Amino acid sequence: MNVVLRNGLIVTMNRARDVFRGEVHIVNEHIAYVGKAQKPAPPGALVIDATHMFVLPGLIQAHVHLCQALFRGDADDMKLLDWLKKRIWPMESAHTPASLRASARIGLLEMAKSGTTAVLDMGTVHHTQHQLEAVAESGMRYWGGKCLMDLKSSSGPLYEKTSEALRETEDLMREWKGKHALVRYALCPRFAVSCTEGLLEAMVDLQEREQAVIHTHASESKDEIALIKQRTGRNNVDYFAHLGMLNDKTVIAHGVHLTKGELKKMVRAGTPLVHCPSSNLKLASGIAPIKTYVEAGLKVALGADGAPCNNSMDPFIEMRLTALLQKPKFGPDAMPAQMALELATVGGARALGAEDRLGSLEVGKLADVITIDRSHPSVATVENPYSAIVYSCLGRDVRDVFVHGRAVVRNCEHQLWDEHEVIANAQRERSSLMKRI
Ligand SMILES: [Zn+2]
Repeated sequence: MNVVLRNGLIVTMNRARDVFRGEVHIVNEHIAYVGKAQKPAPPGALVIDATHMFVLPGLIQAHVHLCQALFRGDADDMKLLDWLKKRIWPMESAHTPASLRASARIGLLEMAKSGTTAVLDMGTVHHTQHQLEAVAESGMRYWGGKCLMDLKSSSGPLYEKTSEALRETEDLMREWKGKHALVRYALCPRFAVSCTEGLLEAMVDLQEREQAVIHTHASESKDEIALIKQRTGRNNVDYFAHLGMLNDKTVIAHGVHLTKGELKKMVRAGTPLVHCPSSNLKLASGIAPIKTYVEAGLKVALGADGAPCNNSMDPFIEMRLTALLQKPKFGPDAMPAQMALELATVGGARALGAEDRLGSLEVGKLADVITIDRSHPSVATVENPYSAIVYSCLGRDVRDVFVHGRAVVRNCEHQLWDEHEVIANAQRERSSLMKRI
C-alpha cells in the first residue's frame, strides 16, 4: 500500500531525534521518504492530512501475554506467585482453541488501536498453533511462541513433560519458519521457577541452532528469587548466565531486583531487559531502577505484560509510568519524556534485534508508523511533542496504525476485523472459560 502522511509533526526518533513539520511516504512495506519538503505522492497513494497529528514510529511492546487478555479483572490485588498459582495457571489451563483465539484477538485489537505495531509475546502451554493463526490474521508484527513449563512441583495444571514440551516447540518452529512475513517464532520458557535445568539447556541449544529469540521472566519478585536461590544456590540472572543463556537474543522481562553483578553480566552479554512498570506496581513486585540500568548500558524496552496484571495494554500508560517512577528516587530529570519514548520505539527495536528495520522513521526502514490526534483537551495546547506523547496522550488518541505498510487502524477503526464481533466473541468465550475452572 502507498501512503502519504502530509503536513504532520514528524517525530522521527532517528539518531539526531529530528522533529519537524513535513511528510512521510510509505511505498509498499517500506518508508520511502521522510522530510520537510512536500514531494509528489507515489502512484495510487492514499494521502492523509496529518496537520493536527503527530506522526511517529509504531510503539513496540516487548513483553505481553495475549493468552491472558480474557482474564482481565479476574486476578486483582494479589502477589506474583499467588496470582500465578491460584488464578492465572488454572485459567490458562482452561483455554480451548476457541477461547485462546478469542483472547489473542481482543488483546491484539486493543493494542493495535492504542498504537502498538510489534509485540514479543509469551504464549501459553497448549493450543499455540491457534494463537499463532489469530496473530497471523491480525496485521500485528509478532515474536512469540509456546510457553514451556516442565518442573512438575512448580507448574500447577500447566505441567508438561520435558520431551513433550520440546517436541511441540520444535514442530511449531519448523512450521512457522518463514511462513508469514510478520510472525517470528520465539522460545518461551516461562521462568526458572517452572523449568528444569535440562529444559533451559535445551533452549540454549535450540537458540544457537535456529538463531531464535529466547523470551523469559526473571527477578520480578523477591519470593521468586528466593525460590531460585534455594534450588540452584544462585540469583536468577546469575543462574541464567551459568547455563549460557545470556546473549543478545535472550530477552528478559522485569529484572526488578537485579544485583550489581547480574546487571554487569547482562550489559556485557548485550541481553535486553523489558520493563513493565504497571505490572510491577500492581503485583507489588517493586520498582526497577531503570535510570541506573540505562546508565550502565543495559538495553531496555517496555511492555504492558498480561492484561490481568495491569489491567490495560495501552503503551502510553507504560511510557508515562516509566518516566514518572524514576523521579521520586533519582530526581525529576531522571527519566525525561523523550527517553521514555525512546524505550518504546528504538529501545524495543534494539531488544528484538531489529534496530536496522524498525523503531524510527527513516528511509528504507519497514513502514510501522502511527498517527496521534492532537485535538483532545489534554493534548491540544501542548507544544513539546515528547511531553504531549508521554505525559498527556493515551491510546485513545491514536488515529492511524500502519504495520509493514498495511493500514491496520484507520480513523480509530480496525481495518481487518469487525471490532464488535471480536469483543462479543471474547465475552462469550470468557464466560464459558470461567465455567471450566
Ligand atoms: Zn509476563
